[in-house]
Formats: sequence, C-alpha cells, structure tokens
Amino acid sequence: MRRLTLVMTHQCNFDCKYCLQKHEDVFMPVELGEKAIERMRQELLSESSRKDSSDRSSDDPEETSSTKVQISFYGGEPLLARDRIEHLVKYANERIGGMPGYSVRYEITTNGLLLDESFLSFAKKNRILLALSHDGLAQDQVRLARGGKPTREIVDQKLEMLLRAFPETIIMMTIHPDYVDQVADSIAFFHEKGIRSVSLVPAHGERVSWTEEKFRRFSQQMEKVKVLYERWNQGDGYFRVIPFENKIRNYIRQKDADSAMCHFGCHKLMVDADGKYYPCSHFIGRDGFCIGSVEDDVDEAKIRTLESRRVEPEICRACDLRFRCRHTCACANHGHTGSMAEVSALQCEYEKLTIRLADEAAAAMIREENPRFVERMYKP
Ligand code: SF4
Ligand code: SF4
Repeated sequence: MRRLTLVMTHQCNFDCKYCLQKHEDVFMPVELGEKAIERMRQELLSESSRKDSSDRSSDDPEETSSTKVQISFYGGEPLLARDRIEHLVKYANERIGGMPGYSVRYEITTNGLLLDESFLSFAKKNRILLALSHDGLAQDQVRLARGGKPTREIVDQKLEMLLRAFPETIIMMTIHPDYVDQVADSIAFFHEKGIRSVSLVPAHGERVSWTEEKFRRFSQQMEKVKVLYERWNQGDGYFRVIPFENKIRNYIRQKDADSAMCHFGCHKLMVDADGKYYPCSHFIGRDGFCIGSVEDDVDEAKIRTLESRRVEPEICRACDLRFRCRHTCACANHGHTGSMAEVSALQCEYEKLTIRLADEAAAAMIREENPRFVERMYKP
C-alpha cells in the first residue's frame, strides 16, 4: 500500500452548503497516526524484500528506481490538527523517508483559513503539496465560515500567500447547483490570479438538488470553460482543467477509467480518526464499509466481498464510453444513488459532457500541433 490518507479530524471551521461532514469534535490521536504510518512502513519493507529477491533473478534496472509513497492529511479541515500533522510528517520522514528506494510526499487539501507563513515554510521544507478548496465567485454564497460569515476576502488573501510560496497550487472547486452560472467567470478569476490548475466537480448528496435546467446551465458554463482552456494553452500558455486532462491522458494511454478506482483499499487506504480503515472518504463511519483497522490490520476477506459487489451498472454495459467513464466508482455511485451498482443521471450526464469537451479541446490543440499540450499529455 503506497497511498495512505489520515483523517485528522471530523471538525471544520467552515459550514459549506453541500458539506456532508458531521462536524464532530473528533481528532486522531498522534499515537494512532504513528501506528498507521508504522503499518505502512512494515508493508513497504515486505514489498522491498520481495522486490529484492525478484531483482536478483531479473536484474531489471527499472525495479531499482525510487518508489513514491504518498501520505495525505484529510478532514473536516485538516489544519485544525496542524500540530499533529507536523508531528506525523516528522515521524514519517524518519520512518519511511529514510528507507532506501522510497521517497515520501504529503498532500493536504485545506479551506485556507488557517494557512500562515510558518505553515507554508514547513510545507515547503517537507514536500507537502497543498491544494486550496475555493468556489471562486460563488465562495461567499456557498462556503461560509461557522456562524455564517463570508470567507471570500480572507481566502483570497490566503490564496495570494499560497501562490507566492507554491506557484503550482491547485484549486479544488465544487459546483453547487444553485450557483452554476459563475463557473467560467470563476475559472477566469483563478487564471487572472496566477493559478494554473483547477479541478472541479459537481456537488452531490442530500443537501443539494440538481434539475435538468440547472445541469443545462452548468453545461453551458463548461462549454465556456473549454474555450478558455484552449485559449490559455496556446503558444507558451499553460492552464490545466484537471477533469479534461484526466480524460485526455487516460485515452492517450489507453487506460481504463476503472483502473483508477480505489478497488476497496487495494490502491489506497483511508484511516479514520478512530483508526478504522475505509476505502475512501464517502464510506467513513459506515460500518458495512469498514475494511479493518490500524489495530487489527486490513480485512482482506471484507475487501473481496465488497469488490464482488462493485458490478458494472446495467445501463452502462452497452455504452461506447464505458472505458472512459467513472461509472464503476462505488463511492460516487453510493453517494449519488445509495447503491454501488447504480449510476446517477447526474454522474452519467457529467461524464458524457466532460469526455465530449475534453475530446473537442484535445482535437483542436493537436490539430494546431500545440507543443506544450502535446508534451504534457504524452510525457510518461
Ligand atoms: S471546508 Fe470541507 S469539511 Fe469544511 S464545511 Fe466545507 S466542505 Fe465541509
Ligand atoms: S456515460 Fe453514462 S451510460 Fe455511459 S458508461 Fe458512463 S454512466 Fe454509463
């Protein structure tokens, strides 16, 4: 297991309109975080000794290159547990960072409120990739602080501070169905600020409601985003709309979208603040989806049972887009429809839209022989 996510807290200093978190005062004890990291180290050591024996028989130089290990800190708002994160980063640097053949890096997605210069310098020193959740022009309508205060002004200041330290900062936008008309202008705002990578996803769950009309307006916005994406990638320009780029790159590499799914703990593991293992954030706290714990190890039988229930939705089996679509994501399906084997109309329409727009943009940029785009998409 090379990707570990530690849920540092369920608490948050924001109260976003689509949030599905329980906002409880639950924090991961550092001893538990250390144990999870230690378990990861033990697995890497076994992997490494297996690799050593096969190296002796294969002599494959590829096998000796450094393997990347990723530890992410998740919330709620993870920076509410900043001291614990700093402790665990130092711990993981010692326990895993020093292992020959492995390099460890860290990831945190934050709402930005608690960012300061000292944390940014800690992040820089320790190769922590910071992503900022920001809903652009809809921030003040959707992403309110606890108590209902707007957050745009302060988060914009934090964004500038973040960009000075990390010019490659990624923005994570969530699209609330009641505020779909500002998506393209929001992306333009980020571009103007100097951001060069934006990820966006439609909000889902019981707190939001999509209608055909709202999705139609969202699609119009995404058409505009595609035009901006093409324009900003001309010449020496560089701007990534991550959902488009994922579709394009996976197509070029002939990578089936299902291969990027978590496969219930096979590719990554999420550790809740109480030490229980889950395949991803959506399933946290749902007993039927707990796949072991730091104390008891991974429950392989449970993973196999869950994986056997992750069947392809009936309506997708004859669809031409099935290898490029995320319709087998158990988390998204369960979150949208309550069933791992049923895809929602929203997800289906969003996938069709993203694939079409990504393909149109890619065709235009390849026709123009756009060198930066081609290099980015084809580089290994
Ligand atoms: S910042 Fe994240 S965890 Fe906090 S309220 Fe917003 S969506 Fe929920
Ligand atoms: S586009 Fe829709 S029908 Fe096709 S595979 Fe995706 S979810 Fe299924």
